[in-house]
Amino acid sequence: MGENAIEIRGLRKVYAGQGGTPPKEALGGIDLDVPEGAIFGLLGPNGAGKSTLINILAGLTLKTAGSVRIWGFDQDRNPRQSRAAIGVVPQELNVDPFFTPRAALEVQAGLYGVPKRQRRTEEILARVGLAEKAESYARTLSGGMKRRLLIAKALVHSPPVLVLDEPTAGVDIELRQMLWAYVRELNDAGTTVILTTHYLEEAEAMCDSVAIVDHGAVIARDRTAALVSRLDAKSLVITPEQAVAALPEVPPGIEVALRGDGALVFSYRRSETRAETVLDLLRRAGIAIRDVATEEPDLEDVFVSLTRGRAA
Ligand code: ADP
Ligand code: MG
Repeated sequence: MGENAIEIRGLRKVYAGQGGTPPKEALGGIDLDVPEGAIFGLLGPNGAGKSTLINILAGLTLKTAGSVRIWGFDQDRNPRQSRAAIGVVPQELNVDPFFTPRAALEVQAGLYGVPKRQRRTEEILARVGLAEKAESYARTLSGGMKRRLLIAKALVHSPPVLVLDEPTAGVDIELRQMLWAYVRELNDAGTTVILTTHYLEEAEAMCDSVAIVDHGAVIARDRTAALVSRLDAKSLVITPEQAVAALPEVPPGIEVALRGDGALVFSYRRSETRAETVLDLLRRAGIAIRDVATEEPDLEDVFVSLTRGRAA
């Protein structure tokens, strides 16, 4: 087995209250490992603590307690090495308005101590689609262009771990696709990627593993497919040749409903019932089948079932 790119233990964050507001515990002591080479998804409703976690990894927010190891380097004992191992694309689109993209990357490379000869400024600008805007002032860039610039900045020191906080929130489809293609390419070349997203479909398509965060706690963490298969529900949607007059008799453990379009929807637990049982009972009821479709739970169902009823 490989090593962990990130190891988080007992991570706690309490934001101090200001002007009479009470202190806010954003992270309640979480443990989390992210394996080397993964594309790892951090999911959770607004206010769950995702950005707080990422900003702590980035060194932008001070933790209250706990430990963070990045690429084997403890953030407190080896701050320089742990910082060099990670590139973070923050959620907020804050770029310095008076720098051009080219200058911003050069400054960033300087901050990270990348020697001039090892800089990849032009290559990175081209890769994120900013070559033509290399000499435009950042304040003239569109939101999508700013997002590209932030990604470019996170990559100047070629970090083995790249973290993206809601990178596709509010970006157009074209940029989203470019972004994901690039993330896959970086991952194929060995970069460990951690991302937060609101798009569960995206997490399902992109992430090997996900952690679901809610109210400052990790409430699930597993391979994406395993998390989905934890939900045992299954539906078989049968379109009959002719409209059925009455619902067929079903044994315990199977439920049947008639859908508006005339389809019969059989719901059951796949650990207990086989599709064959449903097809058998249709044959016995004399219902001819025109079409069969199955519906399985997706990450959204997992998410809803896990976060339901946890509202503070
Ligand atoms: P997420 O990224 O999952 O939406 P955040 O990490 O941004 O969640 O926020 C977690 C909680 O911490 C929220 O209740 C939020 O209001 C609070 N919070 C975030 N940043 C600050 C801050 N700078 N000061 C006080 N509270 C904050
Ligand atoms: Mg956030």
